[in-house]
Amino acid sequence: MVLVVDTASNTATHPARVGRLSLAGLDRARLGDALRQIGVPDKQIRMRVNQLWSWIYVRGVTSFDDMTDVSKEVRAKLAAAYTLDRLEIVTEQVSIDGTRKWLLRLPKRGHEVRAPEIECVYIPEEDRGTLCISSQVGCTLTCTFCHTGTQRLVRNLEAEEIVGQILLARDRIGDWPGAEPPGDGRLLPTTERKITNVVLMGMGEPLYNFDNVKTAMEVAADGEGLSLSKRRITLSTSGVVPEIARWGAEAGTMLAISLHAVTDELRDVLVPINRRYPIAELLEACRSYPGLSNARRITFEYVMLKGVNDSLADARALVRLLKGIPAKINLIPFNPWPGSTYECSDWEAIEAFADVINRAGYASPVRTPRGRDILAACGQLKSESEKLRASARHGAGARVLLEQGKASAAQIENGDSGAEG
Ligand code: SAH
Ligand code: SF4
Repeated sequence: MVLVVDTASNTATHPARVGRLSLAGLDRARLGDALRQIGVPDKQIRMRVNQLWSWIYVRGVTSFDDMTDVSKEVRAKLAAAYTLDRLEIVTEQVSIDGTRKWLLRLPKRGHEVRAPEIECVYIPEEDRGTLCISSQVGCTLTCTFCHTGTQRLVRNLEAEEIVGQILLARDRIGDWPGAEPPGDGRLLPTTERKITNVVLMGMGEPLYNFDNVKTAMEVAADGEGLSLSKRRITLSTSGVVPEIARWGAEAGTMLAISLHAVTDELRDVLVPINRRYPIAELLEACRSYPGLSNARRITFEYVMLKGVNDSLADARALVRLLKGIPAKINLIPFNPWPGSTYECSDWEAIEAFADVINRAGYASPVRTPRGRDILAACGQLKSESEKLRASARHGAGARVLLEQGKASAAQIENGDSGAEG
């Protein structure tokens, strides 16, 4: 039976959620609220939150029954009022190279005709595993080479939906103590933890969902829980300049900047937020980002668009522009999508561009493409989602927005942009 609980009093920012609230993904304050709601006395809250924290974020349990140090009575109350449900998997694709991609359905809200969906990608290497997560459904910005940019914002993800992507991925790759790896024999890192890095490079502009992304990254970095070091978390932004300093001061993760052009004239077109915050202001914000050093560099993402931004003169200008900023450069082969007007640069052009960057002292700026086979399947996914969108439109103008291949190349090429080694 699905209970419809009015969660307004303990989840003021989550109106009209349908069904029981899942505790998986909540921060300490909201876990405390959830415990108070079922009558746990104030003086026990801290202790109970710590217990839940460890079961949810260290052990990854999905049943309250497994929480053996929690009294039977409290477990029963928890199970009656809440769940530990994960985000729902719509599709899971596994590449021959081990890249995994999930299309995930968010919990439906009362006013939503259909539950919105997001994408999350896991990129394993020998010595690390990078999870690329989404922060919004759609995007308010309209970068002309980006598929998400053609979709208006449906909504921000809640903090727990952002954390939920990490929990789901850890479930699927057996990344909990004592858990079995998936039986498909695909590449997993040799590291003890299979997710070593998190990059906010999926759908959406994370700095436009600042508070939820910040809360989520605090949960992710909590040393008593998921324990991902902030040096291994990278936020990618199109350049929301006023929020960059704030993010640096309040969250302090690694930073990636979607630069993509070396002149304002071109960047105004490719990344229209540039009209508000031009390159000089953006780079000034980068220079002031706290904690930068050669060991903690900003990653500059640069999508390779044939005949648009891929000349040797562009490469040299890029090197000049970044002078003095501890930087890494990530050249991203453009990932085309149906209706896109750009083409990916020729391989020779990418190599020649990379050569200029290399000679200026930046190491291997182009990533070996990963997960190409499931990117191909991404095209199929797109047609399906268009059908869905059409039917959703018929249903009272609601929108179901799926990620359709935009992110994949970028995320995969940038899989290591998080931390140093
Ligand atoms: N909104 C944030 C983070 C999400 S986009 C941002 O713009 O930085 C993550 C990266 O994917 C960005 O660098 C973005 O420019 C890049 N990207 C978007 N569409 C792409 C495409 N079709 N091919 C390659 N990279 C793309
Ligand atoms: Fe939004 Fe980033 Fe895509 Fe630009 S590149 S439209 S900011 S998701």
